[in-house]
Amino acid sequence: MAIWETLDAEFAALDAAGLRRRRRTISERHGAEVVVDDRRAVNFCANDYLGLADHPALVDAAIAGAQRWGMGAGASHLVSGHFSAHDAAERKLANFVGCDAALLFSTGYMVNSGIAAALVGRGDAVFADRLNHASLVDGALLSRAELRRYPHGDVAALEQMLAESTAPRKLILTDSVFSMDGDIAPLPALFELAERFDAWLVVDDAHGFGVLGPQGRGALQHYGIRSPRVLYIGTLGKAAGVYGAFVAGDTQVVAWLMQKARTYIFTTGAPPLVAETICAAVDLIEAGDERRAQVAQLIARLSSQLRHPERLMASTTPIQPVLVGDNEAALTLAARLLEEGLWVPAIRPPTVPAGTARLRISLSAAHTTAQVDALAAAINRHLAV
Ligand SMILES: *Cc1c(COP(=O)(O)O)cnc(C)c1O
Repeated sequence: MAIWETLDAEFAALDAAGLRRRRRTISERHGAEVVVDDRRAVNFCANDYLGLADHPALVDAAIAGAQRWGMGAGASHLVSGHFSAHDAAERKLANFVGCDAALLFSTGYMVNSGIAAALVGRGDAVFADRLNHASLVDGALLSRAELRRYPHGDVAALEQMLAESTAPRKLILTDSVFSMDGDIAPLPALFELAERFDAWLVVDDAHGFGVLGPQGRGALQHYGIRSPRVLYIGTLGKAAGVYGAFVAGDTQVVAWLMQKARTYIFTTGAPPLVAETICAAVDLIEAGDERRAQVAQLIARLSSQLRHPERLMASTTPIQPVLVGDNEAALTLAARLLEEGLWVPAIRPPTVPAGTARLRISLSAAHTTAQVDALAAAINRHLAV
């Protein structure tokens, strides 16, 4: 048997378990209204929480950026791929989230897979919430530090692990808003432990940047946390509606990451037009109180319209999962909704624990009350309780 023929069996196993993933193709987008696989639908899958992804101000910034800079950065940042547009975006982002400095990366995946190894290594220890995003897990593994995973949100369990650890350097890693549950990490308590045990605290605010805190300044500002031991990660492809990500913190630690983070050093800089667009997005986020109010109103509306609101998981953020339980039931429900033009992803194990398959509804300022009402009505009709 040739090496590639082993894939036949692997694919057959995926198919048998109902776990083969497929992509759906969007051919038109007007806010949350899309044409997906040739069907008109309202998109409740996207992380575009403020509805900025197709905002005219971002389109204009991208066009102006292209006219000024052309397309590619041409090299990595430390060679010749660093432009004044990147610099301006870094200063603007740092200032916006209340940190001294920021470093712009091409994606959140690259921030998360690159920074732990710059801060800890063999013999050290990383303490990670069990529900953290996959990119944080990969970054911890790449660091070669010991990886200790604590039960989701369990501050007491983390405290015990920290107290038992003899590692010379410790790093606590957490999502702020958990991507499949929508709940928020106990950041003040985690910060208190980081202080007490002299650990770094790395907060991945992928789903909080633009959404949480005054003017959407994110999770640290939401809780008023500021310290040289805290690193803040924001991603720019979600509420900001663009692409990219950044890490922000104290000037010295950010300077260190520029020296050591391999996913920053060994990759081409993001196109400068992307950096221009990010600056425009920060302005829209800062002025976006009405958009955040609209999302908050839709979150309340969804639970008020569902016949079984107790099926909603405990989330105050735009990520509103409806617990279904059984894998097949979740898939069937998602398929029925899509037939009615309501596009919601069914999330199954291994992405979430066995027996907790769910619909993961993402609400956005791009949605109307009528669209959310239609979604709730369809769920009421199809969800077998
Ligand atoms: C989306 C996401 C990332 C990855 O960010 P990208 O910019 O899309 O690579 C990292 N962490 C969390 C929690 C996310 O949800």
